[in-house]
Amino acid sequence: MSLPPGATIGIVGGGQLGRMSAMAAARLGYRAHIFTPEADSPAAQVASAYTKADYADQAALTRFAEAVDVITFEFENLPADSLALLERLKPVRPGARILAISQDRLLEKTFLNEAGIPTAPWVEVRDEADLAPAMAKLGLPAVLKTTRLGYDGKGQALLRAPEDLAPAFAQLSPKPLVWEGFVDFAAEISVMVARGVDGTTVTFDAVENRHKNHILDLTLAPAPLPLDVREEAQAIARRVAARLELVGLLGVEMFVTATGGLLVNEIAPRPHNSGHWTIDACPCGQFEMHIRAVAGLPLPPAIRHSDAVMKNLVGPEDMAQWPQILATPGLIPHHYGKAEARPGRKMGHVNRLFPKGALPGELGIADALALNET
Ligand code: AMP
Repeated sequence: MSLPPGATIGIVGGGQLGRMSAMAAARLGYRAHIFTPEADSPAAQVASAYTKADYADQAALTRFAEAVDVITFEFENLPADSLALLERLKPVRPGARILAISQDRLLEKTFLNEAGIPTAPWVEVRDEADLAPAMAKLGLPAVLKTTRLGYDGKGQALLRAPEDLAPAFAQLSPKPLVWEGFVDFAAEISVMVARGVDGTTVTFDAVENRHKNHILDLTLAPAPLPLDVREEAQAIARRVAARLELVGLLGVEMFVTATGGLLVNEIAPRPHNSGHWTIDACPCGQFEMHIRAVAGLPLPPAIRHSDAVMKNLVGPEDMAQWPQILATPGLIPHHYGKAEARPGRKMGHVNRLFPKGALPGELGIADALALNET
């Protein structure tokens, strides 16, 4: 059953992903109700209602669920009890099982490998005694990661030499950890996949992601890679969505190896930073696709009318350029409404479009993002 215009979509989480989801919901005639502990959150600024409460506040969650027609989330680390409570009261899309898998790297890798989807080689590290066998099995260099609560490079350590093991183990928490073989990747890519209530599945083009200080800096759409690699990435994303019986939107992050092989690094069952280019380069961008899937509406093909580069605006340095960004024709600005530009904080992004098939090379991209002086 599809939600009629005027219905309310509950969004758990108050960040920019919730903000842009609420804006897409509004365009389709829906109201958004945000649940967040934050006082002045990016999402609540553009929503018709919001509940300010802790993610573990069962009474507030109950009132929230009673006030909405369907629930989705932009924040993955919701306590399991809270999610179970919401699921008893209203449809939650994507559902609790998907969230549980994506919250835990061990469950995630186990799920992927059982679905026949390759990942970097890995072993679980429960205590310090597991380190030496892991090194014997997978060698160095390696990446040691927390299984939960890691993002933007937090909760992980690069292991280059045997003496790195003990300090890395001591410093990372919560335990258990996962030991991953180091992937000497040629590129990092991602695919956004959406699956509707009726099982219709659509994938946006595979894009290349470049990071700076562990935070996404640039997304190139489409990824400058051979077509067969990009199509294989989309096929993997569809397989993940089908196996999870996804209803909603999901980002699949992958490594491209030197020989063009693909290894899945992470899945995120929500709109994703690497999908922000779709807002301007696709007739139906990732946020509209997300809301359509959650609301039970038909999903249109995830076609791209333009090539695009997305640049994140992070921290005070990037935001100091906001006036020049606004004064530069061709840059499409997106501001998240955050008052304070702390270092490393995602404050907004800009998209730059190119005719389809005309994504420039390195120098062209730098030129296209160059700012006018004010
Ligand atoms: P993650 O938190 O898993 O998304 O990792 C953050 C970043 O660390 C990735 O985007 C990669 O650049 C890098 N990274 C993570 N895992 C590996 C790995 N097994 N080998 C090489 N680089 C990695």
